[in-house]
Amino acid sequence: MSFAELGLSAELLRAVSAQGYTQPTPIQLQSIPAILARRDILAGAQTGTGKTAAFTLPMLQLLSQSSARGRLPRALVLTPTRELAAQVGESVRIYGQHLSLRSMQIFGGVGMGPQVSQLRRGVDVVVATPGRLLDHIGQGNLELSEIEFLVLDEADRMLDMGFIHDIRRVIKLLPKVRQNLLFSATYSREIEQLATGLLQNPQRIEVARRNTAAESVEQLAHPIAREHKRALLSHLIRNGDWQQVLVFTRTKHGANRLAEQLERDGITAAAIHGNKSQGARTRALAAFKSGTVRTLVATDIAARGLDIDRLPHVVNFELPNVPEDYVHRIGRTGRAGSNGTAVSLVSADEHGLLAGIERVLGRSIERQKIDGFSDLPATPGADPDARRPRPQHSRPRTDARTQHARDKPTHPRTGGRKSGNSGRARPRANV
Ligand code: AMP
Repeated sequence: MSFAELGLSAELLRAVSAQGYTQPTPIQLQSIPAILARRDILAGAQTGTGKTAAFTLPMLQLLSQSSARGRLPRALVLTPTRELAAQVGESVRIYGQHLSLRSMQIFGGVGMGPQVSQLRRGVDVVVATPGRLLDHIGQGNLELSEIEFLVLDEADRMLDMGFIHDIRRVIKLLPKVRQNLLFSATYSREIEQLATGLLQNPQRIEVARRNTAAESVEQLAHPIAREHKRALLSHLIRNGDWQQVLVFTRTKHGANRLAEQLERDGITAAAIHGNKSQGARTRALAAFKSGTVRTLVATDIAARGLDIDRLPHVVNFELPNVPEDYVHRIGRTGRAGSNGTAVSLVSADEHGLLAGIERVLGRSIERQKIDGFSDLPATPGADPDARRPRPQHSRPRTDARTQHARDKPTHPRTGGRKSGNSGRARPRANV
């Protein structure tokens, strides 16, 4: 079935074909007709499935069929992160380029002024993170009384980040009659509760099995002592001639340090995490996308929603504490039908985490030893910044000054310092 057969207007079809899309993806096939028929939607879809176009295209079509009564926005898309807001905002701009709708992005980390001016000029579609949106509402810059569409994108991640109270505050400010679209990569009791209160007789759409990783992603685990991980990573990148690699670490500090070490190994790298300014993150992402930087080292939250097409390689430098994060991470590869590899460097203390991930995936991940690395002994107290190990010599043992204690991440759902894009966000540590 083609996009035209789904009932999209000529203006939207032009924009879609300019993007090179020839066929709707499964989520688009199901969502577009349902949204055009004014149904509420509960969609289970991961990033990479084409979910953004699945809600944006029909929403823009319906908005363009009626005219705005004033300056106030008629559609609100909420996202968990600035990156995702920027990316969805860009999709709205691209798909709506032949329509006369106005759209804007609202997120923290940048000045309020330009957002206020844009709101004053009038806007049809607002793509926002919850915290900054509520700031604008609190300051009287924005009212939600004309909203016809509410989209919650990556709702599971918004709940993970503690945005539930913000979301409920926003919902209270909306008109009673409106269309609601909820997208979530995973389902939990919290998501079901949110959906029950929000959606009216929703059409349920599921494009990937619950908590399963994209079939096209080849997954491997390399057993390796913690202090030799960096050397193995450099080896894999060089040996495999990997040109675009997204590497996940658990801590911001770890991301910075690894990027520096890779640079020292002669592999261009940048780190992206919640302590970096918006400008620095945007520059790092642009350099990675253009190929100037070969390796992007990211924490889970920072990487959430990054729009990078057909990413060939994802590396879990450290396994995440929460198995669902693994699913999100490897969702970056093998996008839009192309293949990808997801490689995990697994130290002895991480085998329990790997088993938990396999339980959630419902399948096992192949262990593969790498000659010259997998047999390197763990050196208690070894400096993680140590230079590349030489497999042919045994390394002197040093006393156990705890690298572990320095590097040990806080559990992501408890404690730690505040991060993210909103002062209201429940802190998710070290991301
Ligand atoms: P999303 O799941 O919205 O993050 O989209 C993942 C990627 O797929 C984006 O880079 C889109 O540009 C791309 N995409 C969306 N729809 C299609 C389509 N019908 N055909 C090919 N690529 C698409």
